[in-house]
Amino acid sequence: MHGAVLYAPYDIRDVERPDPTIIEPTDAIIRLSATCICGSDLWPYRGIDPISEPTPMGHEYVGIVEEAGSAVTTIKPGQFVVGSFFASDNTCPICQAGYQSRCVHAEPIGAIGTQAEYARIPLADGTLVATPDIPSDDLIPSLLAASDVLGTGWFAAVAADVAPGRTVAVVGDGAVGVLAVLAAKQLGAERIIIMSRHEDRQKLAAEFGATDIVTERGDAGAAQVKELTDGLGAHSTIEAVGTQESMMQAIGSTRPGGAVGYVGVPHEVALPGEELFFAEVHLLGGPAPVRRFLPELINLICNRKINPGRVFDLELPLSEVAAGYRAMDDRRAIKVLLRP
Ligand SMILES: [Zn+2]
Repeated sequence: MHGAVLYAPYDIRDVERPDPTIIEPTDAIIRLSATCICGSDLWPYRGIDPISEPTPMGHEYVGIVEEAGSAVTTIKPGQFVVGSFFASDNTCPICQAGYQSRCVHAEPIGAIGTQAEYARIPLADGTLVATPDIPSDDLIPSLLAASDVLGTGWFAAVAADVAPGRTVAVVGDGAVGVLAVLAAKQLGAERIIIMSRHEDRQKLAAEFGATDIVTERGDAGAAQVKELTDGLGAHSTIEAVGTQESMMQAIGSTRPGGAVGYVGVPHEVALPGEELFFAEVHLLGGPAPVRRFLPELINLICNRKINPGRVFDLELPLSEVAAGYRAMDDRRAIKVLLRP
């Protein structure tokens, strides 16, 4: 099969890779209908996360089940499935509490590399969720978004305690940030402030429900959010970047007693204890337990209540994966969909 492999910083290629096979009886093999490039794929692409050997890339996926292992009971060949970027058994106490990304048997899908024609998905029964029918082609981008960026934005909104009537601030205007706006709107937020400097992303955020735009960053950005909220700060702040500045901007934008949901993968973030102490905010973050939200998100998408697939603004064949990474790296694209 074909698949994307990162050889060195800025050197990603579509190459011949071995066809995946069932290894554990709980595995399933899927044929990818679509896959995509994640903001987090840019960390190794740019050489900020070093790689030691040629590395298959990708952890977002939707597709048709080709083969199921002998111990798989609920997922069947021919079904269209959506899964998360961590495989999970969905039965252990951590999964049952809704934190499937930290399942005691969690396996990162990124190690498998789903920017490919086929992928082996471990723990298929606990990881994959089948759609009610084979979805029409126009729903595939939205279902693909559910596999990570929508699920992550949704978790961030839930972690930030978004609820009807609340004011929400979103730090970060990447795919996760703008879809966190969509999630906040669905969860009943009254006012949604997107912190963004990019006109295309501001427009998309407004389409998803943002009511205010703040272009300042860091302390100035936090001050602007306070100014918009009678000096109090947002009830709920979503952090979707992962830098020291963005994390402090999120904490500084939140009113005492409010909550920050942080889903940007942190790079060299260190929280100063005293500032944290006097901020007096709730903090919950981490790799999103997307599996928790998939049944609800699939339902909203298949009933055409939400259209998160709008976040993809460039679609390429998998053979042009290198052009896709360049477009994301140059910020010419918010998110790139790849067709195997
Ligand atoms: Zn588990």
